[in-house]
Amino acid sequence: MESHAIELVKGAGKQGILLAKLAQQMKETETKVLEVIVSLSKNGHIKKVEEKRDGESVIRVIWQDKDDSEWDTLQGCPCFICPDINQCGAGQPTNPWLCGKLNTWIKERLD
Ligand code: SF4
Repeated sequence: MESHAIELVKGAGKQGILLAKLAQQMKETETKVLEVIVSLSKNGHIKKVEEKRDGESVIRVIWQDKDDSEWDTLQGCPCFICPDINQCGAGQPTNPWLCGKLNTWIKERLD
């Protein structure tokens, strides 16, 4: 049952899957699937997120690779791995307003 849950949650991608839908796909009760998810969440690969849907609380289950989760918050911003960061800023030869790497990264997110 655990491996089936992992397969389905992983397959749902970054948006995850609602617990109700997961239970439906596993042909199990939500309570039983929730027990499995709680157990799996202890290793940090599965995250439970509570959200509101039509005024009701629902649980979304999301797979997260441990390595990915560390970098998720950075969203690929070049500043976090930039070798020039110590010389970057107002009055410096390099700055965020003129930086091609940063402006390209921002533009890609706006397109
Ligand atoms: S703005 Fe450009 S130069 Fe400055 S830290 Fe970010 S990526 Fe590096």
